[in-house]
Amino acid sequence: PSPNDPPYLKGLNEPQRQAVLTTEGPVLVLAGAGTGKTAALTARLAHLVATQRAWPSEILAVTFTNKAAREMRERVGRMIGPAVEGMPWLGTFHAIAAKMLRRHAELVGLQSNFTILDTDDQLRLMKQLIQAEGIDEKRWPARQLAGLIDQWKNKGLTPEEVGAGEAEGYAHGKGQKLYAAYQTRLREVNACDFGDLLLHVLTILKRHRDVLEQYQQRFKYIMVDEYQDTNSSQYLWLRLLAQTRKNICCVGDDDQSIYSWRGAEVANILRFEKDFPGAVIVRLEQNYRSTPHILGAASGVIAENGNRLGKTLWTDIDVGEKVRVLGVWDGPEEARRVGDEIEAIARAGGSLDEVAILVRAQHQTREFEDRFIQIGLPYRIVGGFRFYERAEIRDALAYLRLVNQPADDLAFERIVNVPKRGLGDKAVEKLHRLARAEGIPLALAAARILDTDELTPQARRALGAFIGDLARWRDRAGQLPHAELARQILDESGYTATLQAERSTESAGRLENLSELARAMEEYETLGAFLEHVSLVMDNEAQQDERKLTIMTIHAAKGLEFDNVFLAGWEEGIFPSQRALDEGGLNSLEEERRLAYVAITRARKRCTILHAANRRIYGQWTSSIPSRFVGELPPEHVDEESSMSGGASLWRANWSERDDPFANVARGSSRGPGWQRAQTGGQFSREPVRVVEARTSAVSLGNKGRDDVSLGQRVFHQKFGYGTIAAIEGNKLEIDFETAGRKRVMDSFVTLA
Ligand code: ATP
Ligand code: MG
Repeated sequence: PSPNDPPYLKGLNEPQRQAVLTTEGPVLVLAGAGTGKTAALTARLAHLVATQRAWPSEILAVTFTNKAAREMRERVGRMIGPAVEGMPWLGTFHAIAAKMLRRHAELVGLQSNFTILDTDDQLRLMKQLIQAEGIDEKRWPARQLAGLIDQWKNKGLTPEEVGAGEAEGYAHGKGQKLYAAYQTRLREVNACDFGDLLLHVLTILKRHRDVLEQYQQRFKYIMVDEYQDTNSSQYLWLRLLAQTRKNICCVGDDDQSIYSWRGAEVANILRFEKDFPGAVIVRLEQNYRSTPHILGAASGVIAENGNRLGKTLWTDIDVGEKVRVLGVWDGPEEARRVGDEIEAIARAGGSLDEVAILVRAQHQTREFEDRFIQIGLPYRIVGGFRFYERAEIRDALAYLRLVNQPADDLAFERIVNVPKRGLGDKAVEKLHRLARAEGIPLALAAARILDTDELTPQARRALGAFIGDLARWRDRAGQLPHAELARQILDESGYTATLQAERSTESAGRLENLSELARAMEEYETLGAFLEHVSLVMDNEAQQDERKLTIMTIHAAKGLEFDNVFLAGWEEGIFPSQRALDEGGLNSLEEERRLAYVAITRARKRCTILHAANRRIYGQWTSSIPSRFVGELPPEHVDEESSMSGGASLWRANWSERDDPFANVARGSSRGPGWQRAQTGGQFSREPVRVVEARTSAVSLGNKGRDDVSLGQRVFHQKFGYGTIAAIEGNKLEIDFETAGRKRVMDSFVTLA
């Protein structure tokens, strides 16, 4: 370091400087968590621009999230001033690929204004194709096909490139054909899905030398953060672009590879040296983030993994506190405990922005959310929806609201055809018209329309069944515990079965959320009290600029850091997840362990790990075993504490047989069926937020009312045409229609002719 160093070099250590100053040729920075990889990459970007090696528009910089891209842009801005303004090629793989594809869309048969489909659209399209192919969609759900196609796209395979053996998995080898049909259909509607963004760009670069050369010329420097989580198609794309200049700098940590379930391949790190011979490998060993105890704890856990590249990590930060392991009695106590601790942090002057609770699966946020609402602790959920705002939870709540309060039209409308029971927009439209005409709730309108011919026989049957269900559930409401009622409703309505049939990671996560909902209900005396609680929770959106603590999944926390980190639910079956245990392979277990490493290394000053002795699963208390990862924490870095007598040290006994990681695996036998336990790290699900809005378009044909109609009058009905009133019974009319014959209709649906 010299006194004349530009600001962006100040404070960097020697290997970091090397990563910044080795601008020409391939560079791989391989280093553990918190060693300043992202910091070095940011400084490198500043250096390239400040020394005019490249214009900002000539640098391709890939980050893992849009947020990370924004931060990098800001930081570079602070280092070198406004020159950074245009960094058009700084962003995520998806964002950059989308931008490229818009420029050359016609080369893959799209127009530049193509739409990017969300998961829902994607599935709808696949369903059509599956049906057209005569495949039983129940047996081979669209989501399964979607998963398969996604995998192929992650690998950079077009339909033509899929090997015969690879297509076995779906509908006796029809997957490949459907993939091709799906791609054709997408082109026809000028659309693509997320996986296509990169795949199409790859195709273009491979087939059109001129385009490839143009980008190879443009991107004088390429850099990639979180390199360990790139998938094959991303890797191929980078390799093509870097082929001529070879000025590519990737930073990553094999121990933090946590997206293999989305096709990420750690092997890309190993390939780097082969594909870019002579690459400079930089190792950063000083950790600037965490205290020695936190680092020691994280290193101890990850040391249990085999097949590591291996790294040294040290820190000269003051010793600080040991990692605390808290054994608590149950979930509510876990939330209470964390809430109390966070309040204490706030009282002591700590900022809530520097506090995070990290969970393995989305459904774990609920207990914390409820508690924090109750005690008034502002929180935000990052990378996902707040618990009660998730689509499946809103659906379930709509059922419950409707049982509790039959006049709840918004609830009725939300679920009248969810799951699909053959009640189309037309039928719903009619209910609306009737409800408005008579000034009655939709549910009542539904009951009234039933013994008329207003609906098609199919819709009438479906509506009849639904109304019958509602009545039955309402009867039971007084007798059953309401959590049990909720389970029955979800089962009998077919909601659960529909999700189960999807057999995807995402649907498994949704099922988990529904179980969690039932668990939440158990804490309230009555259904009414619970629903009241929910509406208060929903209303509790904190001020935008208020300081908030963060709740998120470990996956979403990648690359981030906080002074205070709470790691909740470190129990077998939660973390490692039941899914990882069921799959049983060493790979999935090692990926869970890398997640544990990522989780612990997010903490700067304090890290608290919690495990509960009991969890309530489907109304039943079951005892849980502390996570094996707790047992892997080196004792010298850990303080154990338990709110129960003698409970917390049990795990040492449980996990003493280190040599055989599966020797003592509890396979969830006490935890109910496997699907209930399946976990998801799916904070990336692009869950559409359903907007329920009152329809205003329908115009009643005119409510003539009972007094205005009389026998023998000629009337007009939109569906059946002209006819004569043959009988009047309340607000229902028997009409002899001129072509349709005798029908029973609602009086509000006819006009006097
Ligand atoms: P992760 O693997 O979690 O992504 P990382 O290797 O990218 O971590 P950074 O986030 O870049 O690490 O840095 C971790 C922390 O250390 C940040 O707060 C950063 O500002 C700080 N830091 C990085 N380099 C230095 C340095 N040379 N001197 C002091 N602090 C540093
Ligand atoms: Mg980083």
